[in-house]
Amino acid sequence: MATKKGKGKKKTGDKKKEGGAGSTPAEYGGLLKDISVVPAGDISVCSDCGGSGWVVEVKDGTRYAERCKCFKQNLNSLLLACAGIPKQYEGCTLESFEPDIDPTGVLYKAKMAAREFCDQYPVTDGGLLFIGPCGVGKTHLAVGIIRYLTMEKGVPCRFYDFRDLLRTIRRTYSSGGGPTEFDITDPVLTTEVVLLDELGAIKTTDWALDMLTHIIIRRYNERRPLIITSNFPDEKGKQGEETLTERISYRLRSRLYEMCKTVQMEGQDYRRGKEW
Ligand SMILES: [Zn+2]
Repeated sequence: MATKKGKGKKKTGDKKKEGGAGSTPAEYGGLLKDISVVPAGDISVCSDCGGSGWVVEVKDGTRYAERCKCFKQNLNSLLLACAGIPKQYEGCTLESFEPDIDPTGVLYKAKMAAREFCDQYPVTDGGLLFIGPCGVGKTHLAVGIIRYLTMEKGVPCRFYDFRDLLRTIRRTYSSGGGPTEFDITDPVLTTEVVLLDELGAIKTTDWALDMLTHIIIRRYNERRPLIITSNFPDEKGKQGEETLTERISYRLRSRLYEMCKTVQMEGQDYRRGKEW
């Protein structure tokens, strides 16, 4: 018969030998490398583990210890906090993206694509590229994906505004003693899932194009998914707007075709009437 009991009450120093209650699992990668002790949060009131983060089962006289659900939830909350989501998007979830109910509408289909990506991750064919004009909710959906992957699947993710990212990298060249280019670019290259918001929003100089190429090709080679949003369409509009290809080069656009499923979001202004 299996019994289940909490491992709390602080009298069990021996448990640390089984993995160290404060250690960080390797799968959380570099994101949490600076955190040696996971904050307890509400862990002290957890009725399953009594605050230890471990649940022990006894089967046939042998003890088996595994992480309590509350411990995983705290780690995932930490991942979300480390994802760098800007304040104005903090509340964005897939559920709170409410396009027209019309299932033939592009916004509804975009939400379904985001949902499907989350459900299937990590068994997916690359990432997603949301394309559409300002205000249709591209960033909302993309942030919703980040939130879901961190909180529900414990996936390390990072949000980057494309313009801010390039500015931050450029600043490292002139700052003495501050973060280096490597400090800034390493998480962009190595974090499991990266969201690049507003791709193409900065007129790409040769330097910016080189940097973007480095990021995209490296992530492509390592098979790390990108979630991307862009205001620039694939087809020229009536006003002769620039296309994404013109903004980031033919070579990179075609590489993104291989890396990301394109999700078109032409529609009414989603943000209109919403409070931000
Ligand atoms: Zn617990």
